[in-house]
Amino acid sequence: MSPHSDRTRLIASATRRGLGRRPVNPPVERASTMLSDRAEAMRDEAEGPVYGLDGGSAARQLRATLADLEGASDALLVPSGLAAVTVPLLALTRPGDEVLALDGVYGPTRRFLGRYQAARGVTTRYLPADTDARTLIAAVGDRTRVVLLESPASLTFEMIDVPAVAAACRARGVRTVMDNTWAAGLAFKPLAHGVDVSVQALTKYVGGHSDVLMGGIAATDIACLHAVREAIEDLGWHVSPDDAWLALRGLRTLPLRYAEQGRSGLRVAEWLQSRPEVARVLYPPLPGAVGHDLWARDFVGAASLMGLVMKGGNAAAGRAFLDALGLFGLGYSWGGFESLMTHETHQMAYRTHPTTLEGELIRLHVGLEDPADLIADLERGLAAFSAALTLP
Ligand SMILES: *Cc1c(COP(=O)(O)O)cnc(C)c1O
Repeated sequence: MSPHSDRTRLIASATRRGLGRRPVNPPVERASTMLSDRAEAMRDEAEGPVYGLDGGSAARQLRATLADLEGASDALLVPSGLAAVTVPLLALTRPGDEVLALDGVYGPTRRFLGRYQAARGVTTRYLPADTDARTLIAAVGDRTRVVLLESPASLTFEMIDVPAVAAACRARGVRTVMDNTWAAGLAFKPLAHGVDVSVQALTKYVGGHSDVLMGGIAATDIACLHAVREAIEDLGWHVSPDDAWLALRGLRTLPLRYAEQGRSGLRVAEWLQSRPEVARVLYPPLPGAVGHDLWARDFVGAASLMGLVMKGGNAAAGRAFLDALGLFGLGYSWGGFESLMTHETHQMAYRTHPTTLEGELIRLHVGLEDPADLIADLERGLAAFSAALTLP
């Protein structure tokens, strides 16, 4: 392992010596068929990829760079962040097995578990989103094959003691898979904390420009890697060379964008917390917020994605908030350069354990704009929210 920091290693992997004269960045090689000179060389993997599905230079460099960032022996690519979660869950379970998860899992992951996995005979048991590590560990049963972690959780941002859960699961031969999209492989290192499989939506901060969909799956455990590799091969997943190239480009500047957005995120969160219209800011980096102690203990950085629970309100007031904004884009996904906002109250209805919040739930992604301008924009949104509340 190189002694350099993530920020240096993500760039040094492009400038390393011994490769002869070449462009800094790999070529985009569009290929299904690869040609060989002689029949006996056609299956020789030492000569490079045998077929387009094996991935070209951009995909290979992206995999190696991502594996280095995650502290993994290998990283695999799939066409979306959702596939990065579903593939290991498929690969590591058999009919009759159970997945144990918390209620705050990413919504489409819940959909996969409830439809596809259930039809395969793999059941899922959900515990409340704010379950602590001790309770989760005690809930691991004889059929539990995988514990799925996401910390902070989607939409409500609860944290769990990942090292404690990972250690207890490993001792019992239960696999842990962590959706680490919020930490982007930077602010928290799942594998170093005992997790078996670390996945993230590269779509978010790694891509960083809202122009690519991709998922990364990183692991060191040989059996896990083998199972995931076979599932990708069996399913025929592939990422395009153009997309791999974009994700690799995003990785070079990931630490700078992430740090800057995290700084702005904290500033916006502190301002929101001081506002009378706001009941709670769901953002573990914020002192006093739920999950702050675990975040401060285990994380070395902050994403700029947070939840906002308003004091009361209704769907119309929530929509008025979003409609009054000029700088925040109204759109799904996050991790790009641009600030975004979504209205999420209705999502609580899909949870197994009904969650009642003090008011409307808003999700906020802080981009690279000047945070002072974003705060002024949010002030207009809050005024519109309040005005909508006093309508007859
Ligand atoms: C967005 C997201 C994903 C899925 O990523 P896509 O590339 O949009 O499929 C997975 N997990 C989390 C936590 C996400 O926010």
